[in-house]
Amino acid sequence: MGLPGHRRTSSHKRRRAAHFALEEGSYNTCPKCKKAILSHRACAFCGTYKGRQVLNVDKRTSRATRKSKKK
Ligand SMILES: [Zn+2]
Repeated sequence: MGLPGHRRTSSHKRRRAAHFALEEGSYNTCPKCKKAILSHRACAFCGTYKGRQVLNVDKRTSRATRKSKKK
């Protein structure tokens, strides 16, 4: 039966856990609207990617407004 070979001391655990913290994501700024965007993704605010319009921002509505319009 498998058993731990050595006792994990509290300092051993803490030293290992020192690397568990999540890194903050890296952001770029949109060249068009200057807002913070994720790299390699289209800007969610103006819908451009590499200087091209790829998302229809005007047509897109939020979930709440879409639901209220149906009723
Ligand atoms: Zn933008």
